Order: sequence, then C-alpha cells, then structure tokens
Amino acid sequence: MIFDTHVHTRFSTDSLMGLEQAMERAQQLGIGLIITDHMDLEYPKPDSFSFDVDAFFRAYEPHRSERLRLGVEMGMRSELADHNRAMAASYPFDYIIGSIHVVDGVEVVGRFFQGRSKREAYDRYFDTMQACVKAYDFIDSLGHIDYIARYALVEDPEIHYNEFRERIDPILAVLAERQQAIEINARRLDSPAVAEALFPIYQRFAELGGRHITVGSDAHTPRDIGRNLKAAMALAERCGLQPVWHKERTAQPVAL
Ligand SMILES: [Zn+2]
Ligand SMILES: [Zn+2]
Repeated sequence: MIFDTHVHTRFSTDSLMGLEQAMERAQQLGIGLIITDHMDLEYPKPDSFSFDVDAFFRAYEPHRSERLRLGVEMGMRSELADHNRAMAASYPFDYIIGSIHVVDGVEVVGRFFQGRSKREAYDRYFDTMQACVKAYDFIDSLGHIDYIARYALVEDPEIHYNEFRERIDPILAVLAERQQAIEINARRLDSPAVAEALFPIYQRFAELGGRHITVGSDAHTPRDIGRNLKAAMALAERCGLQPVWHKERTAQPVAL
C-alpha cells in the first residue's frame, strides 16, 4: 500500500482538517496515512506551529492502525536540537520528519529574500540545513529539500543541482551514511519541469549510498491528500530509490 507520509491535521496551526476527514479521503484513495502535524519550537510568530503532544496522542491513539500512523514534522534549528531530541524520545511517534522552515530566526518567505541574491539566500538555507542534518541524527526523513523554492522571491526559484552541489552533497552524504530517508515532497510536482529539476538531487542521494525515499503530499486539506504521489513515486523509481513509510520509527518498504 502507498502511504501519504506528510499530512497536517487540526493540531497544525495552519490546518483545520479533522482526523476523520483525512481518514475518509485516504480510504477513498486506498492509501495509508502518516499524520505529521507541525512542531516548530520557538517559531518567530507567537503561538504558531506547535501543539500539545499529550493531547495529540490522547485524541489520535485510538485510531492508530496499520493504515494510520502518528508522526510529526519537526522544524529543525541547531539551537533546538537537544530539545527536539528529548521530545522525539518522550513520545511514541511512528515517524519524524525534520524540516527547515526558519533560517537565522526568520521564516524562509518574503523578508528572508530581501536584499539578498538567490546565491546568498540559497547558500544560507543549505548551510543551515547541513548543520541541522548533522545535529538531528534522530530524524527519520529530511522533509522538502526544495522548500525554499516554494516562496523564493527570485526570478528562477528552482534548485539546480549543479548550481548548489557543494552545499547539497554534504547533506545527502550524511543522510545516506546514516541510512536516514529523504522526502520527495509532492506539493510542487504539479509541473513535470519541477520533477526534472529535482531529479539530479535524488539521483545523487542514490549515488552516495542513500536508499530510502518517503513520499508525501504535505496536505492541509482532505482534497490535497494523495496529490501528486504518483509523480513522486515515479521520480523515486527513476532514481532507483526504495519508497518507505515508517512504523514505530522503523522503515517499512512500500509494497506496490
Ligand atoms: Zn514543512
Ligand atoms: Zn508539512
């Protein structure tokens, strides 16, 4: 069964989706789900992107099954690594995505790009990701490596591997060495050109010894669950990477 391994429900401050709605949609699509609500500690906007983890497990634990696993999307920042590590160890998550949403205390949107060239902004983003991936040896998968391209105020937001290879390679190498996974976030895969641009990055991960890919829609509404997962799976296959989902922090191969 294919799993959508990146889904936000009402414990994410930017989603209103109820668990029942998400499960109903997944049932229609014949896919499994991993719920990965946002936990970005000390987010630059107050009261954003964190939740009561005890309440999350109280509400969702009764629904956990072979088709529904309970994870989290942790915002990675170097200074919060110990705090996040303690949280990861304290709760029975099935799966932990580590993501970069904030660089130098600033969200990677609008203002982050002001007064900076693409080179400067992207280099800083990848340097931060590199430091975090080193420190976050407990994450299961690196979320949306292309997050910066969603909101970049530059002429060509796409990450061209050759342009940033010195910065991307060390990130991929650390993940590959530890046999952590990397995510193909399907949200930008409406356009085949995006998959084409991302292909060399995932191919390089495989070359460096990486094996596991997680695929996720990053849905915040029922309609977006499962969106573009086929394109993500096709990209994984093209790179010779094994799609996996996680149960009790252990990678399970996707059986097609
Ligand atoms: Zn994210
Ligand atoms: Zn997300």
